[in-house]
Amino acid sequence: MSRYTDAKCRLCRRQGVKLMLKGPRCLTSKCAFEKRPFVPGIHRTTRKRLSGYGVQLREKQKLRFIYGIGERQFQNYFEKANRIPGVTGDNFLSLLERRLDNVVFRMGIADSRSDARQMVLHGHFKVNEKAVNIPSYILFAGDSIEVSNRGKENKKIKEIIDEKAQLNPPSWLEVNPERLKATVVREPKREDIDYQIQEQLIVEFYSK
Ligand code: SF4
Repeated sequence: MSRYTDAKCRLCRRQGVKLMLKGPRCLTSKCAFEKRPFVPGIHRTTRKRLSGYGVQLREKQKLRFIYGIGERQFQNYFEKANRIPGVTGDNFLSLLERRLDNVVFRMGIADSRSDARQMVLHGHFKVNEKAVNIPSYILFAGDSIEVSNRGKENKKIKEIIDEKAQLNPPSWLEVNPERLKATVVREPKREDIDYQIQEQLIVEFYSK
């Protein structure tokens, strides 16, 4: 699967919105979108007026970049969400939120989803007491996630836990104060998603 490896800040500048891909840096004056709020490239002052299709495409790309997922896999999530009873857009967001790398990010152990992904790939977590190193692993209500013995030795995880920064986990996730363990108390709902996204546009994009 091809993965975007260019500068992440270009994605924010291209989409015209802060996607918060770099953790705490996004909240500082170093944020590239704050410093250069125009599209990257030589035609930097032109932000084109978008067609209906363009608006849908932009919304889809925004969500895809937020979770750091490749196009094919993203579309697979949509198709899966479409097969689940209920509102497709809500199911879609719920699936994305329940990815293991996102849950680790929501636990407050990683600064960003891409950091969380790396930590998962390196085997720093267990799900229901079994080692899982698949970032796309989908969690369900009742599942528990904890830092593995290997993860407890990881310098970055130690630092983040020792900082004991104020946590604000979503209500569908119960995180213990030491942040070494969390439980999915229920599946996330639309109102739990804290960023501006119009999922209906994405549903329309894929329903053509
Ligand atoms: Fe986007 Fe700013 Fe974060 Fe870079 S620092 S990823 S431009 S929000």
